[in-house]
Amino acid sequence: MGSFCAWSLRTAGFAGPIAVVEQDATYQYSSTALSAASIRTQFGTPVNIQMSLFGADMFRHIKATFGDEADIGFQEKGYLILGGADQVAERVAAAEMQRAHGADIRILDPDELGTRFPGISFDGVGIGTFGAQHEGWFDAWSLLSNVRRAARQGGVSYVEATVESIETNDAKVTGVRLSNGEVVSCDFCILAAGAWSGRLVAPLGVALPVVPKKRTVFAFKSPFKLEGFPMLFDSSGIWVRPEGEGYIGGMQPPAESDADAYGDFEPHHDLMESYWPLLATRIPAMEALRLHRAWAGHYEVNTLDHNGVVGAHDELTNLIFATGFSGHGVMHAPAVGRGVAELITSGGFQSIDLTPLGWERIRTSTPMVESIVY
Ligand SMILES: Cc1cc2nc3c(=O)[nH]c(=O)nc-3n(C[C@H](O)[C@H](O)[C@H](O)COP(=O)(O)OP(=O)(O)OC[C@H]3O[C@@H](n4cnc5c(N)ncnc54)[C@H](O)[C@@H]3O)c2cc1C
Repeated sequence: MGSFCAWSLRTAGFAGPIAVVEQDATYQYSSTALSAASIRTQFGTPVNIQMSLFGADMFRHIKATFGDEADIGFQEKGYLILGGADQVAERVAAAEMQRAHGADIRILDPDELGTRFPGISFDGVGIGTFGAQHEGWFDAWSLLSNVRRAARQGGVSYVEATVESIETNDAKVTGVRLSNGEVVSCDFCILAAGAWSGRLVAPLGVALPVVPKKRTVFAFKSPFKLEGFPMLFDSSGIWVRPEGEGYIGGMQPPAESDADAYGDFEPHHDLMESYWPLLATRIPAMEALRLHRAWAGHYEVNTLDHNGVVGAHDELTNLIFATGFSGHGVMHAPAVGRGVAELITSGGFQSIDLTPLGWERIRTSTPMVESIVY
């Protein structure tokens, strides 16, 4: 988020100095580096669909954006999201809405699913929706490296330090105080601290409901390859997709084991007990997979409504949020970066209207309900 904001500002013509303050140049605990790096257009709100379409277009044409060397390994192989018989009407309505906003979503009944995706058992399934374009997965680390390099080439400086506090005067942020004692002064402060964002602004009296929630990814070695396998979201709550020669997958922990995870990156190993039988039931051949490793990263969960927060604070008017994407922030980073750049350089959103993601709904506790959350 931070790098896309910085690079987009420069490409939008912002001529002043831009600094990205990053406490960890290895990014080893960043959500971006630990994510499942996938992109979907199957959302329940138009703004999320529009942001995904913009991201997918950039990923498809990554060389046009970042040069001939750029390669993020975009595999446009679709999300297949399964639902039970009781969900058919609601899922058809969602798919029609997604199509109306430019997504290419196919609605498949169990017979069509069986023909299209051999190897998957569709017992108990009433509907599947499949993104035939604009959905799939990519290499998030490469995406970050490319945008960072481009930002640097545009004169953006990267400062390795922790922001200890945000300094204010009247209704403005005046700068950020760093762990090395320096104060970086600013005309605009973009908050793109991911899962750390809520804690960082709390001392200002800004009640941003963004907290870290641990999400575990299991990586499997596989003796076989299922051709054309998508990013599969099962109605049971598990997901699995190809990754290199094997597969990765996961599921959300139950609410009682989903405390705020400040500093905790230990994978939820015990989830495997629930995950494994569900996986083997849905895709019987996957019983032959071997668990190779597991890692955990943090979703930057906006507890109000699981959607990103983008735009200016109402009182500290040069504090701009670009955070809280709750598990879909890599795919939306290009659109958020462009939106934030438009806001700063021209005073408003020009391309996609990101107003629905604004601070106003946080201030008034009015959720923008997103029905398709993982
Ligand atoms: C397991 C998992 C799977 C996911 N799968 C997907 C997916 O398939 N698709 C998708 O789009 N998204 C996915 N996400 C979500 C996605 O990773 C995040 O939404 C996205 O990476 C958020 O980007 P960010 O820049 O806001 O946060 P980050 O990538 O976490 O970057 C924030 C940076 O801020 C730095 N920072 C924080 N506080 C300070 C401070 N005080 N001073 C200096 N630096 C600071 C951190 O070091 C960090 O590098 C997943 C996340 C996880 C954990």
